[in-house]
Amino acid sequence: MILMSSKLRYWAIIPAAGIGIRIRADIPKQYLKINNKSILEYALECFCHHTCIEGVVVAVAEHDSYWPELEISKNEKVMVTVGGKERCNSVLNGLEYLAKYAAADDWIMVHDAVRPCVRKSDIDLLIRELEGHAVGGILALPVRDTMKRADENNEISETVERGDLWHALTPQVFRLNELREALEQLVRQNVIVTDEAQAMERIGLRGKLVQGSSDNIKITHQSDLLQAKLYLLSQGNSGCE
Ligand code: C5P
Repeated sequence: MILMSSKLRYWAIIPAAGIGIRIRADIPKQYLKINNKSILEYALECFCHHTCIEGVVVAVAEHDSYWPELEISKNEKVMVTVGGKERCNSVLNGLEYLAKYAAADDWIMVHDAVRPCVRKSDIDLLIRELEGHAVGGILALPVRDTMKRADENNEISETVERGDLWHALTPQVFRLNELREALEQLVRQNVIVTDEAQAMERIGLRGKLVQGSSDNIKITHQSDLLQAKLYLLSQGNSGCE
């Protein structure tokens, strides 16, 4: 089935309500700075500046005092809602907020607040590759290394065939109502999913894998900050504007 809409419209949701325990910082990791700009601002700017994106909803933690301090929080394309207990709850809150403005079959791009190096060219690629696709899809990268499964002692129990394995990145793009229904169903069942594609899989819908750039890393550990700084510099983004 190919869904048709008179005008394809795109919106973005940035779940930014996590704490980021693994990075061991005293502020939530999306507010850590690279050069003079927060990780969240880098991630958000790419969507705010993109002419195909109608608006962006950022889901922040309740009582988040860092968000209102960011200049970008006043951008006319940016809206804010409160996040939830898990990433999937934050995304669902963003979808519920967007439902006031977006149509049921509008495309929603969900992008992690902690992926500051996302490229405009990757967003363009996703839009091109998913045009006319019934379900949607995600940026992803084929696995390069040989993959091992560990047992409970961290000893190797088996080698996993890597030929059809991919790393799931973001943005992940699905239709508003389908994604909302998928997440609502899982939240009702107390099932936690770690990305939108997994929610869609659970209701039997297969998104497309679109090969993205390898510099679209997720900031997880301290060492990722230096890596992201180098990637941003190589993209000509010094964080100064
Ligand atoms: O914790 P993790 O790195 O998987 O988080 C991925 C994204 O989900 C981050 O942008 C984080 O801020 C967001 N998140 C959220 N609400 C939560 C947990 C995580 O918006 N409850």
